[in-house]
Amino acid sequence: NLSDKLQRSFKNLRGQGAITDENISDAMREIRLALLESDVNLDVATNLVEQIRAKAMGSQIATALSPSEQIVKIVHDELVALLGKDIAKFKTASQPPSVILMAGLQGSGKTTTSGKLAAWLKKGGHRPMLVSVDVYRPAAREQLAIVARSINASLYEGKLIDGEAATDSVLRLAKEAKRDAANFGCDILIVDTAGRLGIDQVLMDEMARLKALLNPSEILFVADAMTGQDAVKSAKAFNDLLTITGAVLTKMDGDARGGAALSIRQITGAPIKFIGTGEKPDAFEPFHPDRIVSRIMGMGDIATLLERAEEKLDRGKAESFAKKALSGDGFSLEDFREQLRQIKKLGSMKSIMKMLPSVGPFAGMAQAAENVDEKQFGRVEAIINSMTNKERRNSDIINGPRRKRIAAGSGTTVQEVNNLLRQHAQMSKMFKTMGGGGGMKQQQRLMA
Ligand code: GDP
Ligand code: MG
Repeated sequence: NLSDKLQRSFKNLRGQGAITDENISDAMREIRLALLESDVNLDVATNLVEQIRAKAMGSQIATALSPSEQIVKIVHDELVALLGKDIAKFKTASQPPSVILMAGLQGSGKTTTSGKLAAWLKKGGHRPMLVSVDVYRPAAREQLAIVARSINASLYEGKLIDGEAATDSVLRLAKEAKRDAANFGCDILIVDTAGRLGIDQVLMDEMARLKALLNPSEILFVADAMTGQDAVKSAKAFNDLLTITGAVLTKMDGDARGGAALSIRQITGAPIKFIGTGEKPDAFEPFHPDRIVSRIMGMGDIATLLERAEEKLDRGKAESFAKKALSGDGFSLEDFREQLRQIKKLGSMKSIMKMLPSVGPFAGMAQAAENVDEKQFGRVEAIINSMTNKERRNSDIINGPRRKRIAAGSGTTVQEVNNLLRQHAQMSKMFKTMGGGGGMKQQQRLMA
């Protein structure tokens, strides 16, 4: 991926005094290849590399940075500039309800994203209403109904009329929904549309007529980040016809490193506004160009991780855990279980590890993430659940027969129970040692 490639080409530059024509040409070739491999469109990649080269050559006399550091910085800045520095604004109409028209191919994530967007808007104090105008597949409208229920958002269901032409149904449902949203005081109407496997004329005509009818304040193109160049091609087709106002990149929790984001931005001129990072309604966030660039370059996404931790973790619990663990008493298995639950709130272990920088102390983490066994966490929790309160508080009393009972109760093996008890004893001891002397104070200062 781009990150590995960049790291490698930068490594070759390390230790060289200044940036020269010769020593950067290898790096530029690598950068170009890496961009292409991560689904950046050919023209976009070529332009970028030329800009990076020009900047790099001009920066010879600069600063205390090493050549490789200089180039890393230049690449970073160029990519951020290309994506637009700031978080793109979400537009609403002066006269509610504002309409958001969702566009994209089948399977790109329109229905899921419609729900995520509604949940996000609700969190921001809006009253969104959802409607599906996918009259071609009955299951599609049912899917949106389920999504709407799960996030407790309003839905305009409407009815299909026998014998009505499909496009007429689409336009009628959309019109009814807009009126319904106004009547019920919903300030935003999200219109989930039918997708096709490829660009097709009937679909495009329908989208154009929906746009004319609804006068949407946002037309969001939903793109599956995993589909790379295809997503870029369909983004262009939708944009030529509809002039999209923004894009949503879904499935960013997968292996996609975000090259499509660069190309879609460059080719349509529309900003990426949101990314989807999982199947659940809250796996969704505004697009931060600098974070994606860091992720593309393998510098990790610590900012997102911290933000998630801020939002999801219970600060009080974390602090009291730290205090307890560092005190002479050590921490119990009960405390340990609570910590596991807190960590799980941050998302899958895989997604957490992928956000760590792929350089420095975390090198190899993203790779290791591939081998993480998510079920392991569940098994550890099951083991602790199968203990009595007394055992959780004082693991010393867990003798042979108790271990057997716990293994049976949690559907694990005595060996797994033994492992957990041993790990707990080691960690507890380690924390106690840290807690002695200055460690405790330092920890408290860090958490203040
Ligand atoms: P639509 O045909 O465009 O409406 O696509 P759907 O919303 O039905 O999504 C297609 C599939 O992609 C479903 O299985 C979704 O759960 C999945 N999906 C959507 N967004 C994401 C995402 O951000 N991450 C992951 N991992 N899956 C997603
Ligand atoms: Mg759908």
